[in-house]
Amino acid sequence: MKHSEIVERARNIAQEPLLKPNREKMALILEEYQRKTPKSAYFFRTAKGVIPHGSEHTLPPTHPYPLFIDHGRGSHIWDVDGNEFIDYILSGGAILLGHNNENLNRSITDLIQNRTNFHGYYDEMEIKAAQKIIEHFPSVEKVRFTSSGAEACLAAIRLARSYTGKKKIIKFRSDYHGWGDAFMTDMEIPGSERLIAHGIPSEVLDLTVLVSQDDLNELEEAFSTHANSGGIAAVIVEPMGGESGLVPFEESFHKKAIEIAHRYGALYIFDEVVTGLRMGLGGAQAALGVMPDVTTLGKALMNGYPSCGAVCGKADIMETLSTGLPGDRPYAYVAGTLAGNLLSVSAAYYNILELERPGVIGRLFRVAEDYVTKLNDMFQVKKRGFFAYNYGGIIRIELTAPHAVPLTSPDAIAEVLTRRGILSHYALAVHNQGVLTRMGRDMISCSHTEEDNDRAAKAYEAMVDILE
Ligand code: PMP
Repeated sequence: MKHSEIVERARNIAQEPLLKPNREKMALILEEYQRKTPKSAYFFRTAKGVIPHGSEHTLPPTHPYPLFIDHGRGSHIWDVDGNEFIDYILSGGAILLGHNNENLNRSITDLIQNRTNFHGYYDEMEIKAAQKIIEHFPSVEKVRFTSSGAEACLAAIRLARSYTGKKKIIKFRSDYHGWGDAFMTDMEIPGSERLIAHGIPSEVLDLTVLVSQDDLNELEEAFSTHANSGGIAAVIVEPMGGESGLVPFEESFHKKAIEIAHRYGALYIFDEVVTGLRMGLGGAQAALGVMPDVTTLGKALMNGYPSCGAVCGKADIMETLSTGLPGDRPYAYVAGTLAGNLLSVSAAYYNILELERPGVIGRLFRVAEDYVTKLNDMFQVKKRGFFAYNYGGIIRIELTAPHAVPLTSPDAIAEVLTRRGILSHYALAVHNQGVLTRMGRDMISCSHTEEDNDRAAKAYEAMVDILE
């Protein structure tokens, strides 16, 4: 689906009154969920005693309490009560081959049995994993592994500051780059600014300059405004837009934005933590034909094996990274006991080998498109304005369009939060049909089938039917 159509249709949804689930039907759905998941309820009560709010995760649904999982295989997972679900959340994109992939597990089990899980020294597997990333990502010449996507993004901006000698970064409104101080402004909701930036000194956030997506004039203005107050070291961006494309970019934006960034001596960083591998082996950069200076990876790189992240880029820029050795130029110190560990780099290497098998990515894209078609057909029959689209293995489903609410009135943030909050009620209706969804921010794996999609479209239909 084209950018202009996505933006217009989301705007239309945001202008319509919010559709609410029928109260009586919702009460029955809640009752059914509670009846089916007593062990999860028990574990959540116990977790609250030992873990703050009982929660360490941002991605799984939590209404009325999260599911505790027993095991997974392929596109399916089973909770501790024995309920089976088709998983369209996939840890926000980390699982790409599917849950518990046999070939990948066998490679890793062999490695552990024949060698070790971790030794903390240098290993040939680091080279092999880096070579695989370089082979596929067009802009990447060197790779440093980190322990998470958030760390990769933090490393990327330190690298940029060190390389350019400039101070500030530009972040686009609504984009997410992990929980590092510098990125905790205007996350996910365009215009929300420092809504959840607690615990971060405002001076730190003053170094992050916010720019609206698609606004090249604002971008250029930000560069010139800050040129004499530290300068801009880098623009960091989710290539498909905020929330991996729920707030999409106009198709030709990056090429023009890179040109502006380079004119002011700044680097252009693609945060491909979600898009990397999921939009194809070369990530969004190969799909869009765009050459960023620096790329961050995570999630699907290791199909769920920890600890997953990498910062990559052009050789000259990447040479600015150090692990503490003294040098003749201002190096950016980036380290980590587990970074580049044997198990992680091996998982990355063997995962990419699996994805390289003929037909694997092509099939992923076909099943993703099948899902989108089935959802859109159903939404049309039901005469709702909802719509779905995909970027490779990333599925976006627009239902309440919180991020398309114009933040022009003082009540707008409350409206945005209501539109986001209600999605957890919508989701429960889908979960009860055996399908796990993040309600708009779904993912698909290489193990999903067209039959899974039939069941998921029916589950969404059951949800649509209770709205009024
Ligand atoms: N960047 C993007 C675009 C992400 O979606 C995420 C995670 N949701 C991150 C960075 C942070 O990655 P991690 O959770 O592995 O730290």
